[in-house]
Amino acid sequence: MTSREKLFNNLTKFFTLDLLNQEPMHGYKIMKQLENLIGKEPSPGQIYPLLTELKEKSLIEVTEKGDRKKKIYKLTNKGENKHKRLVNRFNDIVSTILEPKLTECAHCGCKVYEGGYQTKVNDKKLVFCCKHCARHYKKGR
Ligand SMILES: [Zn+2]
Repeated sequence: MTSREKLFNNLTKFFTLDLLNQEPMHGYKIMKQLENLIGKEPSPGQIYPLLTELKEKSLIEVTEKGDRKKKIYKLTNKGENKHKRLVNRFNDIVSTILEPKLTECAHCGCKVYEGGYQTKVNDKKLVFCCKHCARHYKKGR
């Protein structure tokens, strides 16, 4: 497996837990929702071994519903905890990557993602969150 395939595989696992955290659903719906999230529909050959793996780890459980005995997958308590931990870890990683790129508005101090409102004050390029802050800042000089 290439590292890209591994990443894709792990993302698919994560998103599956994330989807089932919202509501229990059957395999076909999981596939359709994953397509929306990842932009590529996973094949049944990908998704069912993955669901089996999650089930073996007791992260999800299966119930059968209706006359046609449709299999509905849902998170177990263990799965919910795992999902919570993964989301927290994911947020930590993403903010670690993004934080250094943040600048602060020179007027109000709020955090500005790349871009913001840039203008020159006394030949110095400053970044503000919006043009109103820039105007206030210039007035206060
Ligand atoms: Zn501001």
